[in-house]
Amino acid sequence: MTRVASDRWATPPVSEIARHAVIERVERHPFGRGYRLRTTQGHAPVFMADGILSDRHEGNVRRRKVGVSLSSGCAVGCRFCFTNRIRSYRPLTLEEITAQVHLALINSDWLNHPYQQLKFSFKQMGDPLVNPIPTLEALWQLQVRYHPEMLVVSTAGPDRNRWFFERLAELGDTDSEIRLQFSCHTSRDAERCGLCPKMKMLTFRDLGQIARAWPHGRVTLNFVVMKGMTYEVDEIARNFRPEDVFIKVNYIDRNRDTIAQKLVTDSETVVARFERDLAEHGFVSARRHTPDNYD
Ligand code: SF4
Repeated sequence: MTRVASDRWATPPVSEIARHAVIERVERHPFGRGYRLRTTQGHAPVFMADGILSDRHEGNVRRRKVGVSLSSGCAVGCRFCFTNRIRSYRPLTLEEITAQVHLALINSDWLNHPYQQLKFSFKQMGDPLVNPIPTLEALWQLQVRYHPEMLVVSTAGPDRNRWFFERLAELGDTDSEIRLQFSCHTSRDAERCGLCPKMKMLTFRDLGQIARAWPHGRVTLNFVVMKGMTYEVDEIARNFRPEDVFIKVNYIDRNRDTIAQKLVTDSETVVARFERDLAEHGFVSARRHTPDNYD
């Protein structure tokens, strides 16, 4: 399918969008736009990103990705996250989540070429398990309105609202592919809890059971390989079946938050050994220098 016009004209009227989101700033890049928004009740910042990417691991298809926030600030408090610098926290309403996508699509003039696929990624800021009902309703409404090829839902895994996964799986029975992702970053529960100390976290055993029950393809496990963390593939294999998961191996983003927390990528030897051990245990993995390769 070739997109652009069809997405833009499916948006609600500007006056309707303006009731839920206000643009504070727009950063313009050759490959897209980064938005800093606020809600009409003054909750800020709400970050949204819109860009074209083509991933050589996925056939170089030109894909438009709109990344939306589920909250202003975040209650999970992962040690490496910029949201720790945001003092306030407010989960977003259904309308405030969907307004981000409408805003992106209505501002499509920067696009020079059509694209083939549309993807909505619910991982800009906030966690779906902490704001489950507006998240599920937004996924449903956006799916019905725009028919995106892909919806990405990512969680750090706070131990809240476990019923979310069953409801999410029901949404996947329509046209859009739903990709579920877990942020892991270590193979030990105690270290994961240390990385996200504000909330009780689901254990690897819990996550493994959810992955086993997930009916829409492999669940992505994200591992940023950090110095001081443990990457025991035996432990991963005790909790996850290789056929249920795809493992993304990442480098840490060097920014003021990760530098302040002294979190750095481990050596190439450790990263390569982790990948080799994964392959020996039958896991499929891929390394990403950045989450996506933009063109
Ligand atoms: S759940 Fe996501 S947004 Fe929230 S603190 Fe962790 S990484 Fe940041």
